Amino acid sequence: MSGKYLVTGGAGYVGSVVAQHLLDAGHEVVVLDNLTTGFREGVPAGASFIEGDIRDAAKWLDPSYDAVLHFAAFSQVGESVAKPEKYWDNNVGGTMALLAAMRETGVRRLVFSSTAATYGEPVSTPITESDPTAPTSPYGATKLAVDHMIGGEAAAHGLGAVSLRYFNVAGAYGGCGERHDPESHLIPIVLQVALGRREAVSIFGDDYPTPDGTCIRDYIHVADLAEAHLLALDAAAPGEHLICNLGNGNGFSVREVIETARRVTGHPVPEVVAPRRGGDPAVLVASAATARERLGWNPSRADLAGIVADAWEFAQNIAGER
Ligand code: UDP
Repeated sequence: MSGKYLVTGGAGYVGSVVAQHLLDAGHEVVVLDNLTTGFREGVPAGASFIEGDIRDAAKWLDPSYDAVLHFAAFSQVGESVAKPEKYWDNNVGGTMALLAAMRETGVRRLVFSSTAATYGEPVSTPITESDPTAPTSPYGATKLAVDHMIGGEAAAHGLGAVSLRYFNVAGAYGGCGERHDPESHLIPIVLQVALGRREAVSIFGDDYPTPDGTCIRDYIHVADLAEAHLLALDAAAPGEHLICNLGNGNGFSVREVIETARRVTGHPVPEVVAPRRGGDPAVLVASAATARERLGWNPSRADLAGIVADAWEFAQNIAGER
């Protein structure tokens, strides 16, 4: 059955890909985005667009919506350390306003974009949802605070909600890909080097306790991630707050990512070793057993070369636009 969905942050990377998947499945999509970090041209053609802030969600939400998918948030770990107030205000304050608007209008289903950063330094690998949450940045702390807020809203007021804790989202889908300004994520940076837009990629630390000394992350294709959101909409049950990790359960080191990019792009991609970046755990790998069991999620694009190839196609396209 088709539904009507509000997608906050639908002009951003993950939000726009999920919006496209909802449209492809025959749903009606309204994107709410204030364009502080999103791109108007990122909003899929078939979606309606409201340029506005989640703090004013009450202005736009009405009982005709079947659910909200909530992506609007600031997401730069480093910036959150320098300007924590900015993150608490938007990520937490904004979500409080959104939840209030949902309560008032009786929109009782929510899928929330949470993160592996809620766990902080892992106590074991792979990470499960019952592991301790001790975020090492204000960014992670704000996302964890929202997870707690949603849990309370479900228990007290019958919201049906799923928080999806993303590991390292990468790749592109339907012309939507990863771009931040300034860019801070590994794969887009490596591809900028391949395009000749940067001289070299800095490896942030090669003395971690991993086989090649560089950090290991669990990269997940944005289209696999998007599919989990549609399944989460179906799984959201009144009064329940389900939390699911989303990752492939495979870890790749920074050096393996760079090597893969060399193979995929055919460019040399020079590297330099730089100091560690503050707050980076050595290994972050997900157990997605809950998503598989509870959502019926079955990711099909786990191959790192395929993920990098899709990101490369997108990187070349946006380079051509400039
Ligand atoms: N990284 C790196 N050089 C860069 C950007 C990232 O070595 O220019 C490393 C970073 O320290 C981490 C991994 O690549 O170990 C993934 O970082 P990213 O920022 O893409 O995602 P995060 O894991 O922080 O969510």
